[in-house]
Amino acid sequence: MSNYYPEGLTIEEGVEKILAVTGKLDTEIISVTEAHNRVLAEDITAAEDMPPFAKSPYDGYAFRAEDIENADREHPVTLQVIEEVPAGHYPTKALGTGQATKILTGAPLPEGADTIEKFEVTEVGEGSVTFFEPVKQGSNVIPAGDNMKKGEVILEKGTKITASGCGLLAELGMAQVPVYKKVRVSLISTGDELLEVGEPMEPAKIRNSSVYTLNAYLESWGMKPRMCGIVRDRAELIADAVKHEQPKSDVIITTGGVSVGDYDCLQDAMELIGAEILYWKLKMKPGMAFLASRYRGTLILSLSGNPAAALMELLMVARPVLGTLAGEKDVMGKPFTVKLKNAFPKKSKVRRFIPGRLEIIDGTAYIDVPERQGNGMLKPLEGCDILGEIPSGSPALEAGDSIQAYRLYRLF
Ligand code: AMP
Ligand code: MG
Repeated sequence: MSNYYPEGLTIEEGVEKILAVTGKLDTEIISVTEAHNRVLAEDITAAEDMPPFAKSPYDGYAFRAEDIENADREHPVTLQVIEEVPAGHYPTKALGTGQATKILTGAPLPEGADTIEKFEVTEVGEGSVTFFEPVKQGSNVIPAGDNMKKGEVILEKGTKITASGCGLLAELGMAQVPVYKKVRVSLISTGDELLEVGEPMEPAKIRNSSVYTLNAYLESWGMKPRMCGIVRDRAELIADAVKHEQPKSDVIITTGGVSVGDYDCLQDAMELIGAEILYWKLKMKPGMAFLASRYRGTLILSLSGNPAAALMELLMVARPVLGTLAGEKDVMGKPFTVKLKNAFPKKSKVRRFIPGRLEIIDGTAYIDVPERQGNGMLKPLEGCDILGEIPSGSPALEAGDSIQAYRLYRLF
């Protein structure tokens, strides 16, 4: 019954195989008030210099530097104050020799002036201001275009709009922002043993828990996940659920039923609906059990039922795929080096991921790995902020050994 598909890929091979059949979502225009965490669909270029005029960073006086070049304590120089310019107003008078304009923070530099000084170092008189030392020409003037130059690319296509990005967009006058659509992800949990979170405990059952973690990560990545409940371990039921969700989903993520047990029926379900199976199983721990398929243009990423394994698969395999679909560039960020705070006694035949806490001790980054970790456990992940990577074929590791790590918040 089965069509041919490869088995046991590395993460890179697995991601590439999926990316080979993955496009990018369409774009849409949204309000800047909703732009946080969305992905820019175009380069954003400054349409004008920002600020558009030279201005003052202080409350003080604008004048010509040459007028006070000989000023000192014994020979102070007094200039005539011709005008007062608050922020938001243009000077009405051009300034001549021997004159100064009182200028407030953010106000434009008057014509004829080349220098600004804070009022604190002057002596303010009736219609005049006195200087006791010279000031270098051009001092304290914020030039036009100091923040952004007209024509400069300020935010690049494919970047996530951060909190500071929202303000930049506003500064640029972008009330409407072009972004990629949110990835719609349907989450289907499979397993005869699963109970919904509100149901009372029953013999031989456990709660459908991992989907809440997956859902939360997807939300924090700016995606649009939807939890679709539990489906029992029968290929026909799983096939029906996938068929039902497919028109509403860019990606369907399922959990459970992808290892080699008698009740692991994801492959059968995919074959029932005529989905194309891309590959089965990955060379990673936790997270060997994984099936990638495609049905009517929708990707189906079938993760392990084990919560920690499902999460590693989401972070290392689904994340780059979802990010690419969402139009993001540089989805995963660069790993960095950390030292193990404690020995890691297990050998790692295959590539292994270990969540831990980042600790900086005397300027060196360490990973503090919870003592007990397991495929089936979510609890050790609580409080972890980085993910260490142990290469395949590694022996037991000593405290102080270096490994690579990813920031979890970057991943999410
Ligand atoms: P499976 O991948 O279906 O063989 O499941 C592996 C292990 O994960 C089993 O012990 C399941 O009971 C458990 N499991 C499966 N689905 C979930 C879920 N949604 N939440 C928590 N544990 C699960
Ligand atoms: Mg199962």
